[in-house]
Amino acid sequence: DGDDGAVRVVVLPPPGMGHLIPFGELAKKLVSRHSISVTFITFSKFASKAQKAFFDALPPTITSIHLPPDSLADIPSDARIETRLSIATLRSLPALRSILQTLQQNAHVVAFIADLFTTDAFTVSKQLGIPSFLFFPSNLFTLSLFLHLPELDASTTCEFRDLPEPLQLPGCVPMPGSELLHPIQDRSNDCYKWMVHHGRRFRDADAILVNTFKDIEQETAKIINKEDIKWPPVYLVGPLIQSCSPDIELVNCLSWLDKQPKESVLYVSFGSAGRLTCSQMKELACGLEMSGQRFLWVVRTPSDIESDANYFNSMIIDDPVAFLPEGFVERTKNVGLLVPSWAPQVQVLAHGATGGFLSHCGWNSTLESVMHGVPMIAWPLHAEQRMNAVMLTEVVKVALRPVVAADGIYKSEEIAKVVKALMMEGEEGKCVREKAKELHVGGTRALMEDGDSCQAIGELANKWTSKVLTSVHDS
Ligand code: UDP
Repeated sequence: DGDDGAVRVVVLPPPGMGHLIPFGELAKKLVSRHSISVTFITFSKFASKAQKAFFDALPPTITSIHLPPDSLADIPSDARIETRLSIATLRSLPALRSILQTLQQNAHVVAFIADLFTTDAFTVSKQLGIPSFLFFPSNLFTLSLFLHLPELDASTTCEFRDLPEPLQLPGCVPMPGSELLHPIQDRSNDCYKWMVHHGRRFRDADAILVNTFKDIEQETAKIINKEDIKWPPVYLVGPLIQSCSPDIELVNCLSWLDKQPKESVLYVSFGSAGRLTCSQMKELACGLEMSGQRFLWVVRTPSDIESDANYFNSMIIDDPVAFLPEGFVERTKNVGLLVPSWAPQVQVLAHGATGGFLSHCGWNSTLESVMHGVPMIAWPLHAEQRMNAVMLTEVVKVALRPVVAADGIYKSEEIAKVVKALMMEGEEGKCVREKAKELHVGGTRALMEDGDSCQAIGELANKWTSKVLTSVHDS
């Protein structure tokens, strides 16, 4: 069918934007630099406008096939998103097998790439003889935790947050147990078991591709391929970031930024899914107002339940503005812009008026920030974001972190203080600003023709394509 003989890589990311976006960037590199076709296998119809905009923007050589929708109605409604994704993967294996078999009839499927939550797909890819890889959309530090998790699970009995000493993984900053990956913080939750399970399955990969680069994780990068334990080889393929975010044009942020002075605006966003509680949102509003700094805030309706509730749909819009303190919008109208739910983040970070990023420390947001030389305020919510926050403030030193009050809330005075420290002239702000610019240089170098990222992707692509060339030659 015209596809005959094509060299094809098949990827299985979960539907969250934080996973789709880096998979998309990896796919674009394979297509544009190595003439490899890529097929996305996706879990559901694309629920949100952002997801639809993402797929619409992919080049035609990147195709997608949907798995049949599988009901998860029998899963308890309080099951965590990671559990749901893991179960959805398991239940999709028969459908996945038949999709892969059909693809194999028409093309050389040279590699299958799973995400950290879809590793059970390796069962099928391996049975079909397809080399199987993991693309880890976060950093080496978190990868290292996952790889050590089966042993840590066996050697500890208490909750990680009750560990008497910080956890010291080789090449990584010592990490207080309470800052470790959110889904492993409750051993009685199924999600914990899934994380350990995935950590074990990571070892079934032929190699692991990680969206990071040497300069941001120097010590971990030095040792990751030198551990005694027999782990798959690790390739540093980052920083893969999009050059343009899906833009759904609810509010024209960019023309507002055009009118602001250079590096004067703090961009405030908690990723594709993060939401604050009602009281935290009010403290943030008061803090921003007290700081007197300009801000562009992606506001979402607060949620006093799990803040990954809009994982499948970043576009839930009630009226977030209604939850802000009375008179806030009017009082800040000359310095602040509120954007409901979604902003074209990369375009915002690339804009000269943006001078700081108050971020939940999602890994894509982090890479996007440093690749535009923008320093950060670390405000982690979920997933591995606390680990990222520790790394960014204590090791990389590209972020400032507010101190949380005893009740677990960041108070307005503290927020104002840290915002001023970042945005106004002062030693602290200057240091993180300089570091961000330095990382931008290191990251840019990694992406050059002879840089680590290009070389790593090139090496993998050559392995994949040369097998086909050899087999064509042999036959
Ligand atoms: N994003 C965006 N606009 C928004 C929120 C998020 O373009 O309003 C993009 C952002 O640029 C990043 C991704 O969505 O590429 C979020 O990924 P990240 O790993 O930072 O966080 P997650 O959403 O997975 O928590």
